[in-house]
Amino acid sequence: MVSPGVLIVGAGVAGPALAHWLARRGWRPTVVERSKELRSGGSAVVLRGPALPVADAMGISPRLRELRTRATHVSLLDDGGRRIARFALNPDPSRAVEVTRSDLSTVLNRRAADDAEFVFDDTITAIEQDESGVDVTFRRAAPRRFDLVIGADGSHSAVRRLVFGPERGFTTDLGMHGATVPLSPGAIDDPNEMIVLGAPGRMLALHPSRDTPLVNFTFRAVCPAHGYDRHDLALRKRIVAEAYAGVGWRAPEFIAAYREHPAPYFDPLTNVRLARWSRGRVALLGDAASAAALLGDGSSMAITGAHVLSQALAAHPDDHARAFRVYEAKHRQEVEKRQRRVGLLASLMVPRTRYGLAVRNAVARAAGFRHSRSPQRTT
Ligand SMILES: Cc1cc2nc3c(=O)[nH]c(=O)nc-3n(C[C@H](O)[C@H](O)[C@H](O)COP(=O)(O)OP(=O)(O)OC[C@H]3O[C@@H](n4cnc5c(N)ncnc54)[C@H](O)[C@@H]3O)c2cc1C
Repeated sequence: MVSPGVLIVGAGVAGPALAHWLARRGWRPTVVERSKELRSGGSAVVLRGPALPVADAMGISPRLRELRTRATHVSLLDDGGRRIARFALNPDPSRAVEVTRSDLSTVLNRRAADDAEFVFDDTITAIEQDESGVDVTFRRAAPRRFDLVIGADGSHSAVRRLVFGPERGFTTDLGMHGATVPLSPGAIDDPNEMIVLGAPGRMLALHPSRDTPLVNFTFRAVCPAHGYDRHDLALRKRIVAEAYAGVGWRAPEFIAAYREHPAPYFDPLTNVRLARWSRGRVALLGDAASAAALLGDGSSMAITGAHVLSQALAAHPDDHARAFRVYEAKHRQEVEKRQRRVGLLASLMVPRTRYGLAVRNAVARAAGFRHSRSPQRTT
């Protein structure tokens, strides 16, 4: 008997995790990735909760622990660059592992390399399904037929657009953006310290990462997610530079680094919500189905979702519709409880006004001094 074939679109985090699990369960996965090579960029992500046993079962936990970022504490600065609080970060690797998004994607793709056929520098252009299969047209490769297609192609999913409808029907624009750029190793003084500066409507985080420090800009901006071309590199750079104009401390240096980088990460922060995650033989996974911006939990949810989906398909090998329902019923609860926290988190991380920021900082200062054995000030 020929194993069923599944096309997985996207080799980020959810895609290779699913390829690994489905190959283990008798499927023939093909993964198509739009980029020429694995995408780097982005900042640190945290694996925790249900993702940790899945990583253990995949055999990647030891490597992820080796790749852990070095941050052991975080210092909060006001917009003049004065340190106002200092917290210890959770050091217990059995409860959370922080790695860069780029390292995580590399580890997962290496793990799945022998489990699937990988096609880079290509994408889907059309999906037509009938009762027995799905015909897929690619930008470069010849058309092919698969038993199932899974969209693991991120929050701007092309699978979702082709099968479910235009992006604006499923995304909630948070009115915020995230942007990241790597720095040279000499850019940080303390390899264990993450520094977070707050200004009204803007947050600037300097993360030591592991080898390459990263700066993350998270800011509120008037440009709506659908109102401009987010692929316009010059425009992205201008949006970030304008948002941080006038911010003190090392912001001008970091803006210059962002402007000079050939391809810095930039994305509007959106939540993705759909009434159903599958239509016929096509289902969505990871950010394509259910992104929850800001939490840094998207990777945990992507890995967990891949495992749940593979289990459901293994339990119902001849009934994909039932398998998709089981996957969605189980995994949706996990992601929706996270999505409900996004609004509150946005107000805490990036207060809109100077007054909101002062209140947040006062609370942080009190909590920071209580929890830190050696609070420091640079005033
Ligand atoms: C470069 C990058 C940087 C990121 N940085 C951060 C970060 O700093 N913090 C954070 O919390 N989250 C970040 N994210 C999002 C985070 O990776 C996801 O929330 C999470 O890992 C869920 O993973 P996913 O596999 O569903 O989506 P993603 O990790 O976004 O992966 C989707 C993959 O699909 C590919 N793809 C997209 N469209 C197509 C297409 N049409 N055809 C074929 N392939 C396609 C993309 O190139 C990508 O490789 C980043 C994502 C990317 C792509």
